[in-house]
Amino acid sequence: MSALVITGGTVVTATRTTRADVRVENGRIIEVGPNLNADDAQVMDATGCYVLPGGVDVHTHFDLTVNGLKVSDGFESGTMSALCGGTTTIVEHPGFAEDGSLFTPLADTRTHALNRAATDFGVHGVVSRVDENTPEDLATLVHGGVPSVKVYTTYAGRLNDDQLATVLAAMGRENGLVTVHAENHAAITQLTADLRAKGETTPPAHPASRPGWCEAEAVQRLIALAKAAGNAPLYIVHLSTKAGLEHVRAAKAEGLPVYAETCPHYLLLTDERYERPGSEALQYVMSPPLRTPEDREALWQGLADGTIDTVATDHCCFSLQQKIERGGNNVFDCPGGIPGAETRLPLLWSEGVAKNRLTMNRFVELISTAPARIMGLAPAKGDIAPGADADIVIFDPHAPRTISPEALAHPADYTPFAGMEVPGWPRAVLLRGEVGAREGRFTGRPGMGHYVPRTPDIHRSNARQSQGYQRITEEP
Ligand SMILES: [Zn+2]
Repeated sequence: MSALVITGGTVVTATRTTRADVRVENGRIIEVGPNLNADDAQVMDATGCYVLPGGVDVHTHFDLTVNGLKVSDGFESGTMSALCGGTTTIVEHPGFAEDGSLFTPLADTRTHALNRAATDFGVHGVVSRVDENTPEDLATLVHGGVPSVKVYTTYAGRLNDDQLATVLAAMGRENGLVTVHAENHAAITQLTADLRAKGETTPPAHPASRPGWCEAEAVQRLIALAKAAGNAPLYIVHLSTKAGLEHVRAAKAEGLPVYAETCPHYLLLTDERYERPGSEALQYVMSPPLRTPEDREALWQGLADGTIDTVATDHCCFSLQQKIERGGNNVFDCPGGIPGAETRLPLLWSEGVAKNRLTMNRFVELISTAPARIMGLAPAKGDIAPGADADIVIFDPHAPRTISPEALAHPADYTPFAGMEVPGWPRAVLLRGEVGAREGRFTGRPGMGHYVPRTPDIHRSNARQSQGYQRITEEP
């Protein structure tokens, strides 16, 4: 591949904003600086644009089947649309293995994504069974390119406190990361049964069945269990409440390695959506549900002050048709989840940067640098720097769009963000130096994404780990 120089743009990373050109060779960034020589290279003009590291979405479900129902997109169109919106790497959360195996979901997910994904991809482990082999199996995972696993405190694959403690201790020993869907299952079960018994099965019953305190309780409990497990690293996925956020804030103040992720829908939408008429309200059925305006404002504060580390999507696209077919008569039968991978960067830019809630650097940190670091994708991902993969978004801050299903590359019959106006959109998106999208249209090819093995987070205070990382970086 010949050299490429991106000229005239403003490079924005998590730590700096500079007018600079970027030279790319063989899929990697070679040089970043003013007025680079481009005589021998192809030139890409980024005048008037910001040059950002490619987005990293560490919470997707492009390949999920729940209760016999498969999501409507899949890796091919799902990652294609993610790329069009500026995301160049995803980390997929697989569903539970039928046999409880730790290894089957990883192998299956890699097989399904191979030759289909348009973004680079990693896979989280998922733990739904704990036995005497689990600690050793987790060590194998962490040192085999999968340094993070998901556990659930609700749903059929949930773990009890003893099992959670075992997983936290085993992962912590290996410097791996436990990510958790934190909601109190017993409380939700009780509330759901009561609502069903009263015949309250329309969309407003969904948030009523899993109130914010169910999340807050589970967040607090997981932090306690992680602390008991020798301060094991813990990552709360899709944090949605002010009360849950306060527990994370307190844990961080204590110096515990606790991370939190939230999603665009909790930052932009609130629970009044469940009052929308007819089937429209079913669009917003996901768990945790949308929360109150007070929760939403607290999450923005958490993004700005560092309590929340990442913004991922929890992209899980059941079509509106699927939602109506299953949940039209009873919201508790509606498949949960919404699409969002394509709109993550433009929406967070619009609501965060353009509305002065976030600096551009904090924006980059939230959508790329921090998720890459926490999930073990750095230093190849998450930065515009020599040696990093040339995953680059040329972001045009003056390319307004109104979000609608028709305006997106994603082949869904709805978007939860329909009607929202954003000031900017990626003009071009590069994956390892290859242009995969222009002006929001896919110009790449299925399968251009590679599987990326990940390493345990380099920033945790563990001497054994930092030596291990040093050894890796010294390789040519
Ligand atoms: Zn999820």
